[in-house]
Amino acid sequence: MPNGRSIEETVADLRAGDRATLARAITLIESRKPDHRRAAAALLQAILPYTGEAWRVGISGVPGVGKSTTIDQLGINLTEAGNKVAVLAVDPSSQRTGGSILGDKTRMARLAVDPNAFIRPSPSAGTLGGVAARTRETMLVCEAAGFDVVIVETVGTGQSETAVADMVDVFVVLALPGAGDELQGIKKGILEIADIIAVNKADGENADRARQAAASLRAALHILTPISPNWTPPVLAVSGLSNLGLDKLWVEIGAHRATMQASGEFDERRAVQRVKWMWGMLEERLLARLRADPDVSARLDALERDVREGRLAPTAAVEEVAPALGA
Ligand code: GDP
Repeated sequence: MPNGRSIEETVADLRAGDRATLARAITLIESRKPDHRRAAAALLQAILPYTGEAWRVGISGVPGVGKSTTIDQLGINLTEAGNKVAVLAVDPSSQRTGGSILGDKTRMARLAVDPNAFIRPSPSAGTLGGVAARTRETMLVCEAAGFDVVIVETVGTGQSETAVADMVDVFVVLALPGAGDELQGIKKGILEIADIIAVNKADGENADRARQAAASLRAALHILTPISPNWTPPVLAVSGLSNLGLDKLWVEIGAHRATMQASGEFDERRAVQRVKWMWGMLEERLLARLRADPDVSARLDALERDVREGRLAPTAAVEEVAPALGA
């Protein structure tokens, strides 16, 4: 390891809950230097036996829906109940803007100072695929360090939601009551990956509207084909700010887990995720290799332009690049 500790010592320090080791391991995972990548791969292989026990929970929703408020409260409820909670984020906007929507630790003021919680902002380097890969690896390191709940937060954009749904056991979507009995922040397609929907801000004068919105969504869900034959996504009304309904949310997360485990879907989902992860990383590595050669990279940009403008068939473009892959 870069700090001179052996892999075995690093694993032992990590399992003993040493925070500095945890932070160093994540820094190593996020590094793109080839020797760091190799050290990270060796570390991930060494911790594998100590991973997989955590409850992996994805939470998504548009900015302003109340993700940080809700995760802060839910996290506090969980640490008070004796859990160790890690909160990670996948935020594809962080590459483009240089600042991450989900990056600011102060958004979860109580959890940030809780000794039984660990908050890590989104890795900022690379593609969404790269960000998701680093987050998955960070999740494993947190599990080896004894965190038994890992919450992965993301903003409500289709691609990052799918990426997070592909790394967790249960995917929770936060929504808001709209002007009528409809919902805001529920986009087309999201119902296909949501395992649980929570209508937030169900407090004060909003409470009735939130409950009505939840009821009409519940009715709508009954006529859709569910993602699992064994599970119809429940729709809850919650208030992250007032800590209302978060106990029920956690009960539903547990019910989902028990149902998925009983039907075998739990293990199958994780198995599919691991395989997808492997192929995703291979694809990313291959693309990175292509891009690493400046000549090929420039050629790719030119080819893309020609393909876009209809001068070159996509097939011909691929044939031209293929030799750079040794194919
Ligand atoms: P995020 O962008 O999804 O992380 O949303 P935040 O957690 O930052 O919340 C956005 C705004 O909504 C803040 O002003 C919060 O205080 C407020 N908010 C969050 N949850 C609730 C809630 O349950 N009830 C009410 N009334 N306000 C909330």
